[in-house]
Amino acid sequence: MPAPTIALVVGREPELRYSLHRGYVDAAWAAGAMPVVLAPPPPGEPLDRFVEYVTSCDGLMLTGGGDIDPGAYGEVPSAPLMSVDPTRDAAELAATHAALEAGLPVLGICRGIQLLAVASGGTLHQDLGAAGFTGHHWEEERQHETVHLVEASAGSLAAAVLPTDRLVNSIHHQAVKTLGADLVTTAVSEDGVIEAVEGDRVLGLQWHPERLFSTDARHLAPFRWFVEQAA
Ligand code: MN
Repeated sequence: MPAPTIALVVGREPELRYSLHRGYVDAAWAAGAMPVVLAPPPPGEPLDRFVEYVTSCDGLMLTGGGDIDPGAYGEVPSAPLMSVDPTRDAAELAATHAALEAGLPVLGICRGIQLLAVASGGTLHQDLGAAGFTGHHWEEERQHETVHLVEASAGSLAAAVLPTDRLVNSIHHQAVKTLGADLVTTAVSEDGVIEAVEGDRVLGLQWHPERLFSTDARHLAPFRWFVEQAA
């Protein structure tokens, strides 16, 4: 049996470069998969070749990056936003819809959980501070450390992949606000921020296991689940 192939989509920044945190790719390798790194089609190019290739893979991993254009969930910007790129949004939303329709497993991390929510018809908090959340969710300098607790629903996939100390890292200023019908919330932080969502062969995590698994192997669990589903 060949290793399952996992599609990952790069960001289009900084200018003239593509970018992807190595942790996502390395975690796919560590979990036994063959990572396939894909670029979104440039503006003006049709999405069909890209989407077709994604659905020829065995799973789709939605990775971190800039904020999703609020227009994708029917809002206008109401807070300072970071690195909005409608070109990447459109490619990843099309890939997500096609992957779900094809029955592929999808793992969404950080921006990825937010993309899953928007693809399902949900919405985001454009800025957690502006929305009144008080927890420490933007801890970029401590990205390789755990900084806050999450509470996962008993029996959920989130509970199964979360270490028993329930501590995670946190580098986000946005979060899921509402979900469409096919997803449910399965973990929240102490201040009530949605930190995990799941559906049929779909898992979204707001924290960053790809920046923890190399020093704490328990954080490889979400990637192991995902690659098992893709196999
Ligand atoms: Mn958080």
